Amino acid sequence: MNADVDVVIAGGGPAGLMLASELRLGGAGTVVLERLPAPTGLSKALGLLGRAVQTLDYRGLLGRFGAGVVPAAAYSRFAHLGGIPLDVSRLLDAAPPGHFPPPLPALQAQVEQVLEERARELGAEIRRGHELAGLSQDEETVTVEVAGPGGSYRLRARYLVGCDGARSVVRKQAGIGFPGTPPTHMLRLGDVTLAEADLSRLPPGITRTATGLFSAAPLGGGVVRIVVSEWGPPPEHAGRDVPPAIEELEASVRRVLGADLAMRQPRWLSRFTDAARQADRYRAGRVLVAGDAAHIQLPAGGPGMSTALQDVVNLGWKLAAQVEGWAPPGLLDTYHAERQPVGERMLSFVRAQGVLLSPGEHVTALRDLMSELLMHEQTLRYVVDRLLSLDVRYAMGGDGAPAHPLTGGWAPDLPLRSDEPLDGILVRPDGYVAWAAAPGDHNTDRLRHALQKWFGVVA
Ligand SMILES: Cc1cc2nc3c(=O)[nH]c(=O)nc-3n(C[C@H](O)[C@H](O)[C@H](O)COP(=O)(O)OP(=O)(O)OC[C@H]3O[C@@H](n4cnc5c(N)ncnc54)[C@H](O)[C@@H]3O)c2cc1C
Repeated sequence: MNADVDVVIAGGGPAGLMLASELRLGGAGTVVLERLPAPTGLSKALGLLGRAVQTLDYRGLLGRFGAGVVPAAAYSRFAHLGGIPLDVSRLLDAAPPGHFPPPLPALQAQVEQVLEERARELGAEIRRGHELAGLSQDEETVTVEVAGPGGSYRLRARYLVGCDGARSVVRKQAGIGFPGTPPTHMLRLGDVTLAEADLSRLPPGITRTATGLFSAAPLGGGVVRIVVSEWGPPPEHAGRDVPPAIEELEASVRRVLGADLAMRQPRWLSRFTDAARQADRYRAGRVLVAGDAAHIQLPAGGPGMSTALQDVVNLGWKLAAQVEGWAPPGLLDTYHAERQPVGERMLSFVRAQGVLLSPGEHVTALRDLMSELLMHEQTLRYVVDRLLSLDVRYAMGGDGAPAHPLTGGWAPDLPLRSDEPLDGILVRPDGYVAWAAAPGDHNTDRLRHALQKWFGVVA
């Protein structure tokens, strides 16, 4: 086999950069191809919640976020279900310690900066200004065509991972389908400066009016993220590639909110939709997809970057094991088996939130009902766990008999004490429990099975 590098990653966004570190931690060599010559400094995502924060903490990266996390008590500022506020503070006292990781209100640009720094430290090669233009694969390698600053060249790798975002060239050229639901409406976005007087009269959260939706999130320094949407299908002429003019944004806010906001110094103007699509397979031979390349959705509740990070933390150690030669048969395919259902469930949750954000009396009635249901602690806990991906659980039992309740879930922090209700625990590199035994459980077959299935160890 004649490859230039173990793994080529297309795309240096959050997914690609995190994957580069994960591969290096597992001993694999990697080159990241990023078409942009330099970071733009712009941020789609404004923060991370739940399991994604736990995962960064697990990798020792939270301390790199400057002011960093805010107390879990501040969750209620960030958490909502289709614009219905979720009072997470009501759950904190009853939750086991550490159940709700603190929110990380870090802009995507900062997340990317931290992840890039870490990937470089670990020895990943990041080539900026290099765009993947094409690919082909055979039994043993993937060959990618790259358009670089010095001209075009070819790179051969044992595996290629498309972390190249929603319009992934990798996904398309690997022949991976992207079925889903088309856009039902368009949203306009502007990171703009507002006058002090306007800042003080912005409504909190998401405002749903007879004409559309409005939200405003302060980004600091007088800059505010305005998102506005008007009911009705996306206008034919409004291609997503054409950013709205600031006047267009102002006029839309006027129609939705009935207020004039004087916007200045636009830092970023954009539009997006509620299209929801998912790759029909996460692997095609030696090509895999992760992050937005594998699923796109309305950023309701901010699931995109969080899911992207969790995709690649699931994939990284398995792919490294594959190229390092110790992966047991089928290990790499558990990436699709585990992450595709998580993505599908996330899309379903986001679509449901999209309905709650739709117009009409019937939806208002549904929102009222949801608000009442959310008064019940059990319902609130269920919804919050789902929003924060704290309910992610992989099927790892194996022999059909009831497994230890920790099996398949995220490994909680447990004190190393002899009086714990646990005699042993096997944790995978992504932080999930592959096997656990209660005191007195002398069935070593399950441990043997887990060691073999996940680590190829025949004991
Ligand atoms: C308005 C908005 C708000 C959001 N808010 C949140 C939030 O609060 N929380 C959250 O978790 N998520 C949020 N998201 C979603 C989040 O931004 C995305 O899910 C996230 O960026 C996905 O990361 P990624 O690495 O998969 O893809 P991307 O961030 O799209 O990165 C892909 C990278 O690949 C590069 N690339 C593309 N094609 C090629 C090629 N052919 N060759 C080389 N490089 C290529 C691109 O330049 C880019 O750098 C939001 C999204 C939007 C639109």
